[in-house]
This record gives sequence, structure tokens and C-alpha cells, in this order.
Amino acid sequence: MAWRKLDKMIRPASCRAGCWRCVYGCPYGAKWTARDFIIEACRDGAHLADRARVLRVLVENGRAAGVEVEVQGKVHAVRAPVVVLAAGGLGSPRLLHASGLGPRCSPFFSDPVVAVMGSVDDIDGGAEVPMAAGLSLHEEGIALADLTLPQPMYAAFAAQVGRVDRLFAHKRTLSMMVKIRDEIGGGVGPRWADKTLADSDRKKLAHGVGMAKAILREAGAHHIFKSWHFAAHPGGSVRIGEGVDADLQTSTPGLYVCDASVIPEPWGLPPTLTLLCLGKRLGSSLAATRRAEGAA
Ligand SMILES: Cc1cc2nc3c(=O)[nH]c(=O)nc-3n(C[C@H](O)[C@H](O)[C@H](O)COP(=O)(O)OP(=O)(O)OC[C@H]3O[C@@H](n4cnc5c(N)ncnc54)[C@H](O)[C@@H]3O)c2cc1C
Ligand code: SF4
Repeated sequence: MAWRKLDKMIRPASCRAGCWRCVYGCPYGAKWTARDFIIEACRDGAHLADRARVLRVLVENGRAAGVEVEVQGKVHAVRAPVVVLAAGGLGSPRLLHASGLGPRCSPFFSDPVVAVMGSVDDIDGGAEVPMAAGLSLHEEGIALADLTLPQPMYAAFAAQVGRVDRLFAHKRTLSMMVKIRDEIGGGVGPRWADKTLADSDRKKLAHGVGMAKAILREAGAHHIFKSWHFAAHPGGSVRIGEGVDADLQTSTPGLYVCDASVIPEPWGLPPTLTLLCLGKRLGSSLAATRRAEGAA
């Protein structure tokens, strides 16, 4: 199998061997975080309203005019000539619907993941950077990687599928992630999300799980079991070409969406780098428009 090391957004010089905290966020500043951009923007004069929940987009004369936002139980109107929704694959379609600008139910992809785990007798593990190496079968829409989990997450996965016999086997467990590219379907509603997998998606998951089990068996694992599937990257709910144009603008002038919801097709890949690129591209284009307006 074409297994290879995966690029990580980690500064190796600051990363600590034997650390298990990666999934929770890095306390040592080794892992890249989008917060770095926010800090830079605030240094340049941006105002960050933390713990603020956007309720809807304000539209005046057919254009976006700002947002209605709840902060500490109080509702305010924040006015702006340009609004960029970045509430994620579930949040952005909900906000569009709450603003009367999108459908009540938007189909989406979820990139479902299953963890496959087995015990081996000769390791003292459980503390590693997860997804350090993997395999992507693009045509098949299946990706595999190692997936060392923190103990509480491992125990939750074992308990979820009734494997109480494995609850205390964390340090002796090898875990693998199986992720698939699912079809766009189901729906994100105002307060719910339904992603019942299609038969083709279930077949892909079963195929990937079979591969992971075979690898674990080759590694000498026993008591192999798998978690239920969960959504890794919900997206594709406000797709380019349907909900937004190629510049990420909705049909309401001045209103943009920039997050995983704009991904136009079934995905099945880690989306962060793509979303960063989309954000940088939209930011540059809005800044250029602003400069041109200023010059005029
Ligand atoms: C455990 C886990 C591991 C992952 N690992 C990887 C990985 O290794 N590589 C990778 O590329 N991707 C990974 N992902 C996926 C990646 O984190 C997401 O796909 C990505 O963050 C999506 O970005 P986004 O901008 O679309 O949405 P988000 O990052 O979800 O941002 C949306 C933000 O909007 C906020 N929000 C929502 N509604 C409102 C509202 N009404 N008002 C105000 N704020 C609101 C939310 O609180 C959230 O902060 C992982 C995801 C998970 C859960
Ligand atoms: S393993 Fe992850 S959390 Fe731990 S130091 Fe390295 S980057 Fe940070």
C-alpha cells in the first residue's frame, strides 16, 4: 500500500515527543491555529466580538447591510457594507435560512469517519501525534491513517459500541481512521442535521474498515472492533455554482459565504488548507475592491 507521511501544520521544533494532547489543541504553541490570523487582524485594527451569536443577516434595498447579533443576552445590529458568513458547513446554511435567503433544508456531505481499534501485547502507546501517516485512495474515495486518541476519547468510543472489555486497553491499542467521500444528501435543517448514508457510502466504509482490520491483524492486533461512524467535515451545503458564485458571493449583493459549505462536490479530504486558500483569496479580492473604491 502507498502509505506515506502526512504533512502536518505543526512546528516540529516546538512539538514534544510522548505528548497526547494534539486532538485537544496544543498547549505548547507547536500546532498552527487560525487564531494566529485573528491576532494579526486585531493588531491591524480589526475588532473581534467574542462570544457573539449571529442571528440573521440584515438586508436593506436588496443588499447586505450587516448582521443581527446576540451578545450576553442582548441583541444588537452590527452594520457593514460587506458581510462574510463563515459559520461552517452546518452554521452558514442555517443563517441564510434564518435570514430568509436560503432553503429550510440544505443537502450536504459529512466525510464520515470510523475508528478501527485492536489490542497488541507489546506496546506502551497512546501518546502520539495522530494522523501522522496515511493512504489516500482518491478514485475509491477512501482514506486511511493512524489515529492515536487521548484516553477519554478512546474510552468513549469503546463504551459507545459496548466494548467494556476494552475500556482499560488504551495503552495497548493500535487505532486506525477510515474516512470516506460520501455523496451529497440528507439535510441541514434549522435545528437538526440528517445524514443517513447512501448504500454506496456504506459499501465504501465497509471496504475501508476491511482494509484497516487486515492491517491491524498483520500488526498482531486482537480484539479488533470499530466505532460508529461520525461526521468529520460537514460541508457542501451552500455550494459554489448554486448557493454562491465563483467569487463566493450569494445572490444578495454584499453577502458572501466562506467556509466548508461552499465546497461544490463530494469531498473526502482534509479541508483546512483549501479553506485557508479560499479565505485568503476572498480577503484579497475584498481588500482590492475597497482600495479601488477609495481611489475613486
Ligand atoms: C476532531 C476533528 C479533527 C479534524 N482534523 C482535521 C485535519 O487533520 N485536517 C483538516 O484539514 N481538517 C480537519 N478537521 C476538519 C476541519 O477542522 C473543518 O473542516 C474546518 O474547521 C471547517 O472550517 P469552517 O470554516 O467551514 O468551519 P468551522 O471551523 O466549524 O468554523 C465555524 C465557526 O462559526 C461559529 N459559528 C457557527 N454559527 C455561528 C453563529 N450563528 N454566530 C457566530 N458564530 C457561529 C462556530 O462556533 C465556529 O467557530 C477536523 C475536524 C474535527 C472535528
Ligand atoms: S503532539 Fe500536538 S499538542 Fe503535543 S506538542 Fe506536538 S503539536 Fe502540540
